[in-house]
Amino acid sequence: MGIRLDEPLHKAVGDRTAKVLHTKLHLETIGDLLRHYPRKYVKRGQLTELSELEPGTEATIVAQITKVSRRPMAARRGQMLTVEVRDAADVPVEVTFFNPRAANALKPGMLGMFAGKVGEYHGRIQLTNPEFEKLDAESEDTDVDSWAGELLPIYPTTSGLSPRMIARCVGMVLDQLDADLADDPLPRPVRARQGLVPLTEAFRRIHRPDDWPQIAVARKRLKWDEALPMQVVLAQRREALKALPAVPRRRVPAGLLDTFDAALPFTLTAGQRQVGEEIEQDLASEHPMHRLLQGDVGSGKTMVALRAMLAVVDAGGQAVMLAPTEVLAQQHHRSIVQMLGASADVPADLFSPDPDAGLDPARKQVKVALLTGSQNAKDRRTNLLDAASGAAGIVIGTHAVIQDHVQFADLGLVVIDEQHRFGVEQRDALRAKGETPPHVLVMTATPIPRTVAMTVFGDLETSILSELPAGRSPIATHVVAAHEHPSHFTRVWERIREEVGAGHQAYVVCPRIGDDVPGNASDASDDGSELVSEPGQLRPPLAVVEVAAKLAEGPLKGLRVGMLHGRMAPDDKDAVMRAYAAHELDVLVATTVIEVGVNVPNATVIVVMDADRFGVSQLHQLRGRVGRGKWAGLCLLVTESPDGAPARERLAAVASTLDGFELSKIDLAIRKEGDVLGATQSGYRSSLRLLSVIDDEDVIRAAREEATPLVEADPTLQGYPVLARTIAVLVDGERAEYLGKT
Ligand code: ADP
Ligand code: MG
Repeated sequence: MGIRLDEPLHKAVGDRTAKVLHTKLHLETIGDLLRHYPRKYVKRGQLTELSELEPGTEATIVAQITKVSRRPMAARRGQMLTVEVRDAADVPVEVTFFNPRAANALKPGMLGMFAGKVGEYHGRIQLTNPEFEKLDAESEDTDVDSWAGELLPIYPTTSGLSPRMIARCVGMVLDQLDADLADDPLPRPVRARQGLVPLTEAFRRIHRPDDWPQIAVARKRLKWDEALPMQVVLAQRREALKALPAVPRRRVPAGLLDTFDAALPFTLTAGQRQVGEEIEQDLASEHPMHRLLQGDVGSGKTMVALRAMLAVVDAGGQAVMLAPTEVLAQQHHRSIVQMLGASADVPADLFSPDPDAGLDPARKQVKVALLTGSQNAKDRRTNLLDAASGAAGIVIGTHAVIQDHVQFADLGLVVIDEQHRFGVEQRDALRAKGETPPHVLVMTATPIPRTVAMTVFGDLETSILSELPAGRSPIATHVVAAHEHPSHFTRVWERIREEVGAGHQAYVVCPRIGDDVPGNASDASDDGSELVSEPGQLRPPLAVVEVAAKLAEGPLKGLRVGMLHGRMAPDDKDAVMRAYAAHELDVLVATTVIEVGVNVPNATVIVVMDADRFGVSQLHQLRGRVGRGKWAGLCLLVTESPDGAPARERLAAVASTLDGFELSKIDLAIRKEGDVLGATQSGYRSSLRLLSVIDDEDVIRAAREEATPLVEADPTLQGYPVLARTIAVLVDGERAEYLGKT
């Protein structure tokens, strides 16, 4: 009778050891320990190409100690221990310990594993204070060749707990494990279809591999242990959402939407039409839509959203659009009102809401209300009232405000604009706004790789706008190395002057806001050279306040330069954005408040200062602010980071393609998994050990394909008790709660 995975560790390793494993590594159960996988493996014996050690790298060597000598240290008290080790090829390497206490065990003839940074001292290769593990040939292990070729697992650990000790504990547990573990969470048919080994075998192979292929087989199987539960949870969620009731909002002929379509100054792209039809079908369903709309910057997502909102208003419901920033909410409000033209009911009766307005499916006008955190109390009250009474057919606002305060008369559709991180919890909170759950359309700020769509947004159906509207102008992107080519940097400001001279506008983006007090502009020279630091001098990131002042007095003197950043009063922000949109300003110096969504087609050039401080997707978003009109766009990425630095490569990547999907992959490769999954996915994140959301697209996709029919046939996993239990453990308390809620 073997041990079970969910049993406490002390059953297998004894109380004392169990306690150490718990305090050091938070391991509680047999399963926890078995899922504490090796970080890497070293091959005992041959692994050690001592001759190939390179100074400056981290290395693990396995070698035999040939000499041990102690001598007093010159500068400090105590002794220094110098050990000579040799590998099979008889190459000597010097290992020095400044802390002989740690190395008391070292004796000539002993085989050991040394891991640390490779150094060079007087021309000789040296390891200083490496981690040390004694390797002993188990007595019964007489086959020298297989012993030398054995792969030794190296475990992640903390001080006070050696990898060797972990290996011993794992060994004890493996010895007590049943050959055919009853509690394998992966259903047998799934294993059979996907060619996955049973769990016990996977554990044995990953902890005690005979060769590399065994490790690969084990890792594949164990990745499924992470991917399948995740996809089952998402499939359950999709099923639960599908089962919710919703008010169907069927398309009403000759309503606001038809009027709008008839007045459109352009034709919809094929993608917009197709996604529009998908949404129309979803909205007509008696279950709520949960759709993710992906499209590159400028692909016309807002248009798709507005048409969906009008369809819902036509059908007698209300629609709400949430923007991530106040600037964007204000802009949406402005542009939607503008696009609606005579169909928009604003703002004449804004302060005298018609109490009988109610919801009139036949109405020819729609009131568009704006709700932001900074509104004065009176405006806000009016808008809240309009939302609650149903007088406002469309409500636009920032996430926070709408989530916290707003009640609706009959909320039919929630559009979440330009938001990557709008997690499951927030979507749930919104769903609770209506008596029956509203339809939900999520629009991402940048295209996201499929793996992310299948994980972070795995509970949503996906639509993609793959083409840009016709007549979109090309954008040229250049990296301007301010240090290396001062003349190019001067040219940046000339280019802005040229564009402004031709009747266009420019953005200058800086990473920081800066002091409240504008910088002393009097010392500004004509060429803006003071915006470049002395070579080798570290300076703080450039700030909007200072750069705006310097440009206005220096290289852009005479142009109408405005400023926009997050610390300005919201009314001021709005006023500046309006002025810029109305071409009352030539140049807008801003932080990334303009990153997403801002739409001023007359702007043709964007200069990003300290561009190396921005992420790839961010730069792509920023670049999307130009090239929105009939005129070619220009994006200049100014940097002082040296040629060859990773930051420069990132900038070169952005300059090399306009394809947001391509760039999002590059971005992902740079960012860490945790970032990808986002704060709301903490339950998943902590459960991912082997599975990479970035690299394991094939496993994630296959797991999704297995999970979907499995959950459809057996939503509560009655037939899969071990899988169900695994999921219950995996899904932390918080998460379990909102899963139960749907
Ligand atoms: P994004 O997907 O980045 O949110 P927007 O919805 O802001 O893109 O659209 C960008 C610009 O393209 C807007 O000015 C919008 O009016 C315009 N636009 C949208 N659809 C079309 C189309 N089919 N043809 C021409 N222009 C369009
Ligand atoms: Mg947009």
